[in-house]
Amino acid sequence: MNSPAIPNLGADSPIFGEEHVMLRDTLRRFVDEEVKPQADKWEEAGQVPHEVLRRMGSLGLLGVRYPERYGGAGLDARGSVVLAEEVGRSTYGGFAITVLVHTDMASPHLANAGSPAQIAKYMPEITAGRKICAVAVTEPDAGSDVKGIRTTARREGDHYRLNGSKMFITNGVHADLYFVAAKTDTSAGGSRGISMFIVEKGTPGFSVGRALKKSGWWSSDTAELVFDDARVPAENLLGEENRGFYAVMKNFQNERLVLGGQTTAEAETAIALTLQYVMTRKAFGEPLWTKQVIRQRLAMLAAEVEAAKRLVHHAAWLDAQGRDCVKEVSMIKALCGELVNKVMYTCGQFHGGMSYIRETAIERMVRDARVHSIGGGATEVMLEEVAKRMTV
Ligand SMILES: Cc1cc2nc3c(=O)[nH]c(=O)nc-3n(C[C@H](O)[C@H](O)[C@H](O)COP(=O)(O)OP(=O)(O)OC[C@H]3O[C@@H](n4cnc5c(N)ncnc54)[C@H](O)[C@@H]3O)c2cc1C
Repeated sequence: MNSPAIPNLGADSPIFGEEHVMLRDTLRRFVDEEVKPQADKWEEAGQVPHEVLRRMGSLGLLGVRYPERYGGAGLDARGSVVLAEEVGRSTYGGFAITVLVHTDMASPHLANAGSPAQIAKYMPEITAGRKICAVAVTEPDAGSDVKGIRTTARREGDHYRLNGSKMFITNGVHADLYFVAAKTDTSAGGSRGISMFIVEKGTPGFSVGRALKKSGWWSSDTAELVFDDARVPAENLLGEENRGFYAVMKNFQNERLVLGGQTTAEAETAIALTLQYVMTRKAFGEPLWTKQVIRQRLAMLAAEVEAAKRLVHHAAWLDAQGRDCVKEVSMIKALCGELVNKVMYTCGQFHGGMSYIRETAIERMVRDARVHSIGGGATEVMLEEVAKRMTV
């Protein structure tokens, strides 16, 4: 089935330009022709094949934000939002998050803090999809509270020794490059004493503890990682020693913005699929669409998603102007993580029993949405960030 009709924002929006319209068109074609026909197989396999990511790299879709000299398109946060929306529209959350972790959650650590030598070494591989990235901050005992991480990195001559474990790491099983947070100063309290490292697959002492089975996002591989005296070259320190917490917080902004793009597109697509369904499905002699309660619930959800989407676009525009948008991005993460779940619940309800059957997109979308109010900043944590900024 072709994608439900969703306006091709760009032409009618002052926030987007011709380059974003072109990017959206390329992505939409790629998703319709090369993702949707194959993605059920990836869901069963628990992984998006690396050939698919390399194909995206060859189309210029993995370096939207990075300079052209490294194989990127040189766009700003608006380009990331277009990417997030279009992969979100695929209806395969596992595929979407595999891509977005690589492009907008992990590799920004290199782009923002990497030395010229590190960027020159890794960035062309990343934009081409030859090396896939993961970001490893969360641990079994530290998720929302990043300051609580316990993985340590001790300097020994020309390398660091990393010890500890990481939990819930997206792309964790199959990545080639990991951007890892560890404590370099265990005596420093609070946000101090954390550093970021580039850890390559195959580093002695570094291994995938186990692949984690999830209720949703099946085609996204998720892992627990183990560092057992992992020997990381000192030149792989990313950014300034003991300043890693601030790098993580900075990069969370982009992560949360693209999650806003992904979730609003997923919600919009679910509403479009449900609209198709209720216009043809009959109960009590008439299409479900003739029931006022169904029409009005869908209409209100459409309004809420439209408002959320415009906030995502506005924040992307603020970011592109170099303006502070932590409050808006925190609002987006809190609002969209909850809204996408509300939309999926109602869209599932209006699909009736079919929403519980594996062969429907809505069944997968309901499962995939659940994590959005938790991962990348739980709703409650994000609301605290908003609240802090309401009183100043
Ligand atoms: C599928 C998946 C993929 C992920 N991918 C990655 C990844 O690639 N890299 C990575 O580093 N991490 C990743 N994560 C981790 C994710 O970001 C964390 O799960 C998230 O930050 C929440 O941490 P936690 O699970 O430890 O929950 P906790 O921090 O233990 O919190 C549990 C719950 O308590 C509530 N809560 C927490 N703090 C507060 C508060 N201050 N006030 C009120 N309520 C609060 C919230 O409801 C929260 O959901 C992933 C997680 C999942 C499930």
